[in-house]
Amino acid sequence: MTRSAELFERAQHSIPGGVNSPVRAFKGVGGTPIFIQKAKGAYMYDEDGQRYIDYIGSWGPMITGHADEDILDAVRQRLELGLSYGAPTALETEMAETLCQLVPSMQKVRMVNSGTEATMSAIRLARGYTGRDKILKFEGCYHGHSDSLLVKAGSGALTFGVPTSPGVPADFAQHTLTLPYNDIPALEACFAQVGQEIACIIVEPVAGNMNCIPPQPGYLEALRRVCDQYGTLLIFDEVMTGFRVALGGAQAHYQVTPDLTTLGKIVGGGLPVGAFGGRKEVMDHLSPLGPVYQAGTLSGNPLAMAAGLALLRKIQAPGFHQQLSDYVTRLCAGLEAAAAEAGIPVITQAVGGMFGLFFTDQPSVNNFNAATACDLEAFNRFFHAMLKEGVYLAPSAYEAGFVSSCHGEEELQLTLEAAQKAFATLKKS
Ligand code: PMP
Repeated sequence: MTRSAELFERAQHSIPGGVNSPVRAFKGVGGTPIFIQKAKGAYMYDEDGQRYIDYIGSWGPMITGHADEDILDAVRQRLELGLSYGAPTALETEMAETLCQLVPSMQKVRMVNSGTEATMSAIRLARGYTGRDKILKFEGCYHGHSDSLLVKAGSGALTFGVPTSPGVPADFAQHTLTLPYNDIPALEACFAQVGQEIACIIVEPVAGNMNCIPPQPGYLEALRRVCDQYGTLLIFDEVMTGFRVALGGAQAHYQVTPDLTTLGKIVGGGLPVGAFGGRKEVMDHLSPLGPVYQAGTLSGNPLAMAAGLALLRKIQAPGFHQQLSDYVTRLCAGLEAAAAEAGIPVITQAVGGMFGLFFTDQPSVNNFNAATACDLEAFNRFFHAMLKEGVYLAPSAYEAGFVSSCHGEEELQLTLEAAQKAFATLKKS
């Protein structure tokens, strides 16, 4: 028995499913999870001493690689000054100024402790600001696990939402409308019917929670247009895409400006942080200035601010995002070539530093139904074959992959060699 297997066995006695977040349990891909002992640069090391090239990067934050010395130093320097005060600090203003400068649609910003908190708070603010209850989200987009957002479409195209999890009251879920991603006619039909009742649209401007699905040309513009027409706020959930698809996020990449933006992951440099911000006039509805309540004991935590600021400084280096994007382009081309050589139908989709691999014979995958129609079984076998070769992909066919600036020539070659072997095993079975 491996040490990881032993640790997993032990964990299950005291932690539900042995993990603190479900996808870590390898339930989708089968097998048992690997327990990580340490990580450095592009690599993670498990409790059995195996090394892996990491394409998760803590699900996004490790964009300059693991255990980045500059970030560790920034945290070390703050450490001696105390861990939390529950009172304002200069660092929080520095963080807010940095965010507003890097993402100019954010004229004011508030820090929270996770992506879930950021989206939950942004939605409350949108509802409070507009005085409307309904919100619109898209099938396959994930925005954290707050009640309003754990909702799927009802049976008809325009029925009220139904909970995807026990514990979410149906009365609550009915305020969440759900439409297919990348479908402008469905969007327009929905707004023609109930547009005046919709407080906000929340969207992943590049979907990263149903594998990697970019917006079709004109789609984000259509969201902006209907929001303007009906007095609805547009929320870009950039928890994943923020500082990753471009320095200014997807809104800079696609040149579409939301009213509110939610951030997480990179913004905390690996410590638990989220943020939401947007137009001053909307943000000023928040307590203590306005009536919409939102708060947090550890929000703006000094260690987290120090880590996040150190990371945000580094990723402003000229060419940083181009390097990520170049790596992803070569990785995707190499993966497609290796699959083609083995005669396995595979396509890739990518934007900046995020990418996805689809086992499909379709030319592109544009929404949740298309993503779930891919060959899940083939992905699962590929995942395990890659893991065996020392490449750690996200343990789910429905998660995007992430690269860091530590992923270089050597990691690319090792990954593509592993992929050749992995695709060959798929061909055999
Ligand atoms: N929004 C998006 C787009 C996400 O990808 C995630 C998490 N992967 C969240 C929100 C929730 O963030 P957290 O897990 O920090 O609560």
